[in-house]
Amino acid sequence: MSYRQAKWIEPTIFELSRPGAIGVDFPEIDEVLQGELKEALEEIPEGLKRRELSLPELSELEVVRHFTRLSQMNISVSTGMYPLGSCTMKYNPVVNEELVYDEKILNVHPLQPVETIQGCIEIMWRLEQILKEITGMSRFSLQPAAGAHGEFLGCLIIRAYHRDRGLHNKNIMIVPDSAHGTNPASATMAGYEVKVVKSDKDGCVDINELEEMVDEKVAGIMLTNPNTLGVFEKNIDRIVEIIHRVDGLLYYDGANLNALLGKVRPGDMGFDIVHLNLHKTFSTPHGGGGPGSGPVGVVDKLVDYLPSPLVNYDESRGIFYLDYNRSKAVGKIKMFYGNFSVLVKAYAYLLRMGGEGLKKVAESSVLASNYLLHKVKKLKGVTLPYSPESPRKHEFVVSLSKLYRETGVTAKDVAKRLLDHGFHAPTIYFPLIVEEAFMVEPTESESKRELDNFYNVLSRVIEEAYSDPEKVKSAPHNTAVGRINEVKASHPKTMTPSWRVYTRRGNKL
Ligand SMILES: *Cc1c(COP(=O)(O)O)cnc(C)c1O
Repeated sequence: MSYRQAKWIEPTIFELSRPGAIGVDFPEIDEVLQGELKEALEEIPEGLKRRELSLPELSELEVVRHFTRLSQMNISVSTGMYPLGSCTMKYNPVVNEELVYDEKILNVHPLQPVETIQGCIEIMWRLEQILKEITGMSRFSLQPAAGAHGEFLGCLIIRAYHRDRGLHNKNIMIVPDSAHGTNPASATMAGYEVKVVKSDKDGCVDINELEEMVDEKVAGIMLTNPNTLGVFEKNIDRIVEIIHRVDGLLYYDGANLNALLGKVRPGDMGFDIVHLNLHKTFSTPHGGGGPGSGPVGVVDKLVDYLPSPLVNYDESRGIFYLDYNRSKAVGKIKMFYGNFSVLVKAYAYLLRMGGEGLKKVAESSVLASNYLLHKVKKLKGVTLPYSPESPRKHEFVVSLSKLYRETGVTAKDVAKRLLDHGFHAPTIYFPLIVEEAFMVEPTESESKRELDNFYNVLSRVIEEAYSDPEKVKSAPHNTAVGRINEVKASHPKTMTPSWRVYTRRGNKL
């Protein structure tokens, strides 16, 4: 498939500018500049004053149309099912956004004296109590801005813990071959050598191989459970025993916690450190670059290493305060206290759901995934590797390698063709251990009707792969941007041209 240009350009707002067009009437400058403001302005040295400001000139309607049109070029949770496995693209309730735009939240500054932001600190404190309850950890830092950021912090904590105990030889981090790519990356950034443990025929950590690998040099293991195949690590007790035997620590990658909510806790499984992605499981918007939040929780013996400040409550004085007086803290990992607005949204979501609601999230998301899997795995060209008869948790990974062999159509082609039908593409080619991997996570947000719609479209695309493979291979056909050259698109030197491949609707480049 050659590099195909996009079908139309949406001009930038600057290109749309018509000199003299007016959207908003501003008052004359002399009307505004009076009194104190005028005096303040006079104090600004001449050389620093801006003489002109080149802003696009458009009518209000043109602005509205421009941004509405741009928003329609996208596929989002708000436009259709977004089954992007390992990303938990659930519905983000609008009320969460409303709360963040409340003046009391919007206009606070992190450098305000704590007496004046007691409410905000209380939100963080209460959120932490809930996260502790959900995970079985002793304390959380809300600072990390993403899952990977939390992993990095977790690795720093593991290092600090071992260093404190004089265990300087521990330089190996074990990661399963089904792990999310951020796990080995974070461990490497924190200075560890990564060793990969294979999956067994059920898609779980190969216990025998693990047993052989683990020696005094092992600092820990990073695990996702249920793992990225959607399979629960049935030998978790054994894994905990093997790692703890050599003073190693267990890191739980809790980016996608849907399946466990109110059912099982990483702390009870024996994990020592957990990160959560509030921007996945706890329903704050993500995609398009954030902002995110990846709080890190730890067991008692690691609390001292969490970054400062921790949010504490002083019962005798009845106030919340920020504790910086912690000599073993690994240092700051993010400005101030993390992405506060994301914390507020997650807290609002948790309050609205309540404990029973969260249990239902677990049940509905696992049910949705298995309902869909049951149908999808019977489609021609689709196989389910690793224990094909056993159910999955919140997501499943099928292989389209049979389809590829029979038609030449790849998982990527199928994913692109789904875009034509308004569905976001599932995750593909991850985890790496599944050939032509096609990873679907429907989440609890989708109704049976929508799951059926997705299934029907997917089965039509697969039929099409057999009857008209070229149609699928050249997809997408109905989107604003066609198939782009992915190497060019992600290479810094060619980034600019590939961002500008849009041509005006109908005007083929
Ligand atoms: C998304 C994800 C991460 C990384 O989270 P970011 O917020 O994107 O850094 C890590 N592990 C798993 C299993 C994930 O799904």
